Amino acid sequence: MNSKNNPPTPLVELKNIHQSFTLSSGQKIKVLQDIHFTLEEGEILAILGPSGSGKSTCLRILSGLIEPTLGQCLRRGKPLIGPNPDVAMVFQTFALLPWLNVAQNVAVGLEPLSLTKLEAEERIKKAIDLVGLEGFEEAYPRELSGGMKQRVGIARALVMERPILCLDEPFSALDVLTAEVLRKEVLNLWRSGKTPVKSIVIVTHNILEAISMGSKILVMGTNPGQIKLAVKNDLPYPRDEISGRFKEFVDNIHSVITEDIIPDTPDWVPPAMIANAVEALPSVQLNEVFGLLDRIHESGGRADAFAIAQALKQESTQVLLMAKAAELLDFVDTPKNAIVLTNLGNQFVKADVNLKKQMIRAQLQQLRIADLLKTKLETSENHEISTEECLEFIRDWLPNEPAEKIFDTLIQWSRYGELFGYNATSKTVYLDQPDAGA
Ligand code: ADP
Ligand code: MG
Repeated sequence: MNSKNNPPTPLVELKNIHQSFTLSSGQKIKVLQDIHFTLEEGEILAILGPSGSGKSTCLRILSGLIEPTLGQCLRRGKPLIGPNPDVAMVFQTFALLPWLNVAQNVAVGLEPLSLTKLEAEERIKKAIDLVGLEGFEEAYPRELSGGMKQRVGIARALVMERPILCLDEPFSALDVLTAEVLRKEVLNLWRSGKTPVKSIVIVTHNILEAISMGSKILVMGTNPGQIKLAVKNDLPYPRDEISGRFKEFVDNIHSVITEDIIPDTPDWVPPAMIANAVEALPSVQLNEVFGLLDRIHESGGRADAFAIAQALKQESTQVLLMAKAAELLDFVDTPKNAIVLTNLGNQFVKADVNLKKQMIRAQLQQLRIADLLKTKLETSENHEISTEECLEFIRDWLPNEPAEKIFDTLIQWSRYGELFGYNATSKTVYLDQPDAGA
């Protein structure tokens, strides 16, 4: 017995982790900022965040596949060196080898463990039974449905008999019902005690998945990846998705994510600051924005961002980015989780294509970054600049944003609005003059 009443040592602890990568161009990108969390025994940790927020990078750090740029990863209180022997991993893409049958695929990770043939066969049989694939040992991946392939993926992790099971977006390539079934089965396996799995880390961009599985939920934001919220979820398993407390949880987490992507402007910001703010453009196509506006119009001018995401079968983050784009163009307001058409947005939905183009042109000129670029082009020779100059210009005004993405979006939007053009041959951006002299 412990002489002191110390809390148990976490299975894994990430301490003040910062992660940067150097791209082949030499550019350094910051991917994780000050990440701190623990994985305790008996816990399911759900890491929820949009793509690019660094979720997989966190998994790779805690499984010892990469060493963090700064900070420490501890395994049972001691610095982790090399691969974490406590971790088994399940991948989104199943990562099955097509030339091996189910049993052989499950056996793939066992080789380095130098088990006897009998021990290996017992483990394989047990893992295959646990995921309900008995009878399919001889089948090849091409003969299996997506759900069955992922069962093989899970068996391959279980066969390692390790205390930590890491799942990286394991169900996102599956249809909704199959995903739900597998989610329940993973939970049952963990609760049954039939496996050595003590703790699970599941990475997901699906809020319901995070809340139905996680006993602790980390919500991550992007640019750079950071933890926006860490909450315990002590709702009893199996969880009832229609209970009031479940819904309350979902609402809270929706609000954190929405606030991260489309913050309600605080009242105390002096107007001068708003006037001078240079807004980044979200990476969305205008036709996505148009689709969103139509959808809101059909719902009577107001809709819930997450309901739209479900209806459009889109990631909710993507829908929030579309809403942000529409808001920059003054076509919608975004109080809380709702998206509401403005009068202008309403006019836009009803406009014909020519009027739509004119309206986009007018709205673009209200955006600081477009307005600044217009001034720059007006004062440049032949009213044009090179792509490189344009990227440089974007980096000057928006140093923390990915300039190439902003460039693509800006050009795509302003081609539609005939504000700026892009000549792909000379790789130059020029000032468009719609109907000049007409
Ligand atoms: P998520 O799993 O949340 O989608 P990732 O952890 O895969 O996010 O990646 C976060 C960011 O880090 C992304 O912008 C990705 O492009 C970048 N990234 C990840 N690994 C590398 C790497 N080895 N080199 C350069 N960039 C990387
Ligand atoms: Mg990922």
